[in-house]
Amino acid sequence: MNVLVCGGAGYIGSHTVCELIEQGHGAVVFDSLVKGHRAAVHKDAKFYKGDLRDEAAIDKVFKENDIDAVIDFAAFSLVGESCSEPLMYFDNNVYGTLRLLEAMNRAGVKKIVFSSTAATYGEPRSIPIVESDPTEPINPYGETKLTVEKMLKWSDAAYGIKYTALRYFNAAGAHISGEIGEDHSPESHLIPIILQAASGVRDHISIFGEDYPTPDGTCVRDYIHVTDLADAHIKALERLNRGGASTVYNLGNGTGFSVKEVIETAKAVTQKPIKVLTEGRRAGDPPTLIASSKKAVDELGWKPRFNTLPQIIETAWKWHSTHPKGYDDRG
Ligand code: NAD
Ligand code: UDP
Repeated sequence: MNVLVCGGAGYIGSHTVCELIEQGHGAVVFDSLVKGHRAAVHKDAKFYKGDLRDEAAIDKVFKENDIDAVIDFAAFSLVGESCSEPLMYFDNNVYGTLRLLEAMNRAGVKKIVFSSTAATYGEPRSIPIVESDPTEPINPYGETKLTVEKMLKWSDAAYGIKYTALRYFNAAGAHISGEIGEDHSPESHLIPIILQAASGVRDHISIFGEDYPTPDGTCVRDYIHVTDLADAHIKALERLNRGGASTVYNLGNGTGFSVKEVIETAKAVTQKPIKVLTEGRRAGDPPTLIASSKKAVDELGWKPRFNTLPQIIETAWKWHSTHPKGYDDRG
């Protein structure tokens, strides 16, 4: 397959490009670099710098390449920022993918895998979360992703564009080589912040809330390795190639870890002291998010390979300890 990867210079996109190439596929990356890194893009991938909302730029990619399918990672994804700048989020996340779908129509490309999120569920009513649970986002970020899922449903009905929306839980870890990894700016995710505290790039990690209704009072999340996510995208494309119908899958390991458990595991993996402070709750954090990925396991034949927290943190540490400033310290 020759796959167009929008947002392929970002964290999950760059790992998916690697996995595509390692599995013998072709990858064409389209990324504005508003958040991503050119250095994260595999050397065997063709790269175009451009914004999805730029019709001429995206049309050029379809004209110059024989694209079989699209994976769309391109979006903004900071929950807090989405609350203060909702229109910026709808413009980039919804309008961007809308323009991509129009370009796919013009080019006659009929398959897409879309990055959705656990944030589409909002406050879960039961754990583990299954795909048929109510989707009631509690922030604009989750709402933009749910809106795209709806846009995809109607694009299938009208234009025959077949889609798979993958609702990721907490993406974590890095490529096993340690050559690419997570480098968001600003960084808001728990594991990179803990590891930056371990490597001395940050002074400390702040725990956001110790009074949640969880066993130790801190939030519980389901961490899923970025390479396992990457593999699920390829399996989702293969299923669409076999004629699979449009659908939605959760992607997680099915086990929850509290913030305190993640910190303790990181101390054991890194063998470094990590200074821990406690702050109040961060707005919009549900106490517990754990996926049921049974549907993906059953229908995609997907099986996470990095299914323990120490394994996930070890790969992240390999990246962070050798690239303390992320891609900035690359030659
Ligand atoms: P990221 O910011 O590292 O990657 C997104 C990439 O898209 C960046 O390289 C950015 O430059 C690019 N981009 C953004 N808007 C663009 C546009 N209009 N045109 C072209 N390129 C554009 O984010 P990530 O952590 O790799 O997440 C990838 C996707 O997965 C996002 O859609 C995110 O919402 C979703 N997601 C991430 C997580 C997570 O834990 N990281 C969890 C659930 C869902
Ligand atoms: N968290 C924290 N301190 C931080 C960053 C995150 O306590 O510096 C907590 C956050 O409140 C949440 C969990 O860690 O309960 C995971 O947060 P992250 O931002 O990594 O992912 P999210 O679950 O928000 O997608």
